[in-house]
Amino acid sequence: MNCAAVGDVIRHLNKLPENFQFYKFECFPKDANRVIYVEFTGGLCRKLKSGKRKGQWGYRGATDVRKFAVTIEDGEKMELQYESIFGKCHPCGGKGEVMASWSIADGMVMRMCRRCGGTGVPPGGTYAEGLVST
Ligand SMILES: [Zn+2]
Repeated sequence: MNCAAVGDVIRHLNKLPENFQFYKFECFPKDANRVIYVEFTGGLCRKLKSGKRKGQWGYRGATDVRKFAVTIEDGEKMELQYESIFGKCHPCGGKGEVMASWSIADGMVMRMCRRCGGTGVPPGGTYAEGLVST
């Protein structure tokens, strides 16, 4: 499940403000091999004013914390909803590339997104409006 895309859909459907950010994703049940649902935890955050992550969201001291449970099945539907709501390909978030690997030596290595072929546009355009339940 693309937690960033699904998180954006949760924010949109629940009419949460832009500064409501998800910062914790937990798979359940914890002792099973197969994940049934992912619990999203988020809250109202403020942008960092200093330090290495300046300008990014700071999660410490988040207020109005809320949790959302999303089953794997629903997550797949929400990835398609993401494309119809935002008009962006879901694995790459409209950027046309996804992470291939990450290491301390090389940092983040990107590769072309296979779903959209690097265009960032969902294949066949955006999906039917009917998928979106608001
Ligand atoms: Zn893509």
